[in-house]
Formats: sequence, structure tokens, C-alpha cells
Amino acid sequence: MPTYKRLDLAFERGEGAWLYTHDGRRFLDFGAGIATSSLGHNHPHLVAAIKAQAERVIHVSNVYRIPEAERLAERLVAATCADSVFFCNSGAEANEAMVKMIRRTMAETGQAHRYRIICFEGAFHGRTLATLAATGNPKYLQGYAPDMPGFDHVPFNDLEAVRRAIGPETAGIIVEPIQGEGGIRPARFEFLQGLRKLADEFGLVLGIDEIQTGMGRTGRFLAHEWSGIVPDVATLAKGIAGGVPMGAVLAREWVARHLTPGSHGSTFGGNPLAVAAAHAVLDIVLAPGFLESVEDKGFRLWEGLSAIVEAYPSVFDEVRGMGLMLGLKCVPPQEKVQQALIEEGLLVINAGENVVRLTPPLIISEAEINEALRMIRAAAARLSAESSGGAA
Ligand SMILES: *Cc1c(COP(=O)(O)O)cnc(C)c1O
Repeated sequence: MPTYKRLDLAFERGEGAWLYTHDGRRFLDFGAGIATSSLGHNHPHLVAAIKAQAERVIHVSNVYRIPEAERLAERLVAATCADSVFFCNSGAEANEAMVKMIRRTMAETGQAHRYRIICFEGAFHGRTLATLAATGNPKYLQGYAPDMPGFDHVPFNDLEAVRRAIGPETAGIIVEPIQGEGGIRPARFEFLQGLRKLADEFGLVLGIDEIQTGMGRTGRFLAHEWSGIVPDVATLAKGIAGGVPMGAVLAREWVARHLTPGSHGSTFGGNPLAVAAAHAVLDIVLAPGFLESVEDKGFRLWEGLSAIVEAYPSVFDEVRGMGLMLGLKCVPPQEKVQQALIEEGLLVINAGENVVRLTPPLIISEAEINEALRMIRAAAARLSAESSGGAA
């Protein structure tokens, strides 16, 4: 179906941070899918884990115990503030489950009238009917009425607007620590801290969508850690299994205990193959020094991008984001900038507010970051010459 506006590029194979086309061209992959191929391409540890698991057993179903999934849940619990984990297969599915958990927590504690969830302008939470309603973007909702009821949208980073939106029917809040799709818009730390206080004051469930920001992307295991807050539920997907489809909902006990047998489920969720891939990703991401290396590389990239923004104000407005989740706000249409970068051999992803997203694999090297900066500078020089040529 014509659901995607695709670039006319097709890749045959990948190696580390590089993708190769059938006709032998190579590209430095600063999209990593959409922040999904966290270990890059053909990572030996990930490939070995998937191969070994495929030879043992791929799928058994949640009718039976899956010891490796239990161990994966234990590792995720040990690495975060969560007490238990539900596995599914995508981001939308994880957020859908989070919405259900928020509603069910209220219903099971005698507050069934509380079902509304506060979300933010510029958010992206997925494409199912509930997560689309949580996203609230009219462009994505077009043609799918009636919209799922129960979601209230307020301006991002505006704590007073959140307070005003809380009513007797409010059950929870869902927020991204950095809005990815929305244009790499970070939540201020005081904003997240304020949301935690409001949630405590009004007995709300605070849900954090870490689907893009989690799994080490910002230099912490989960991005909300930077603000010091403890959410009640957090969702993961994208990078969790290095490109194998998987999602996870991490929750604290007061929420998780209401998900009693039969109250939710998934056929594929937590199957041994996806679980093996996620273990392999965790082995790398949680290894001593790895998250620090992401932070350092993010800083290096930020510095280099800042210098380019300064040198080419007719092409780039600003750098935003954290760690290896950075955005460049463009002056010309982002498609034009993306195309110029592709011509230099660099792949990036478009986001809202005319921003190009830089989300390289977490295993990117310093040399590859320098290579990407060289390509961005070259593209900026060309675009800048074109724009001044056009004006002359
Ligand atoms: C990508 C994304 C989703 C949706 O994930 P899918 O796997 O595409 O369903 C939800 N929330 C955020 C923050 C995302 O970046």
C-alpha cells in the first residue's frame, strides 16, 4: 500500500555504521533505522545470539514459561526503577499497554471514573487508535474518526497548563523525555520533575515514553534518569533488540499488580528469538563504560554540529537533543537538506519543526563522527552557496 513516501535507495547489507546499496555505493547511517539499529549492522554479538537462538527454538507462546524472558525482565528491572515488565512487539503496542495499565490501575482501585490521560502537543506515541489519540496530531488522525476518547493535549514544557488540565477524571500523564518525531524537543528537567510532583499530588500514573530515548540513546540507560525522576511506567521499543521487533512496558508494582492473568496478552510478545536479541543488546549497552562512551560521543557530535551551525546560519538554525539523539533545525526545507546529505553519503531522518535527526548507532566511532561532520559541513557549504547564489 502507498503508506510510505520512500527514498529511492535500497540496501543490500550493512556493516557497523555503514549501509551498502546493490550497486556498491556506501552510506554512513546516522538514522540507524529510526534510532532502532542500536548496535549498527551485522554486529557479531547480536548476530551470533540470533543465530544460536534460531537453532534452539524461535517461538513457544506465552502458554509456557520462557526462562530467558524472565531473565531479561530481571535485567531490565535491575537497570531501572521498574518492578516488572510486559513484553510486546512494537512501540505502539507498548504504549497501548501503558494506556490500558493507567486505566486499569484506576478501575481496580475504585476510581473507574478516572480514565483521561494528559499528553503533549508535538508528541508521537504510535499509530494504533489509542496511541494515535495520545499522539493527537490532526494530520495522522485525519480520516480515522471517531477518535478514541480520553486524551487531553497541552503545550509541551508548560507545567501550569498541565495543572490546569488536571480534572476529576484525569488518571495519568504520558510524556517523552525528548520528543523525537516532534523535532528533537527535550523536556526540561524541571518540567519532568514538576510532572512527578503533580502526579504525586493528584494520585496520577506518570508514564514515560522512552521508545526512542531509551536503551542508552542519550547516554543514560533511560533518558528520564537525567532529570532524577522516578516514573510509574516506562515504555521501550525501537533500539531494545537492535532491529528485531520488540517492545516492553516497565512498571512499578502499584501499577503492574493490576495486570492479572488474562487481563492483557500478546502472541509474539517476549518470544525467545526477540529475547535473545535484546539480551545481546543489553550485554553491550550495560557493559562498563558504554553509556559514558555514548555521552562522550554525543558531546563530540554536538560540538562539531554547533560549529557548523555557526558557520552556516543560512542552512542551520540550531542543534538540539542529548547524547546520540540530536537534531539540526534547518533553514531550507528539510527534504532539501536530507537530499544534500545523501549526496555526501550520509543518511539522516526527518522530524517535525523542519529538523533533521541524527541518531547514529550507539557503537559509532569517533572517526565516523568526524566523517559525518565533514559530510554535513560539505553539504552545508553547498546549500549555503546555492542560497546566496539564488539571492544574487
Ligand atoms: C517510534 C515511536 C513510537 C511507535 O513505535 P512503533 O514501533 O512504530 O509502533 C512511539 N513512541 C515514540 C516516542 C516513538 O519514537
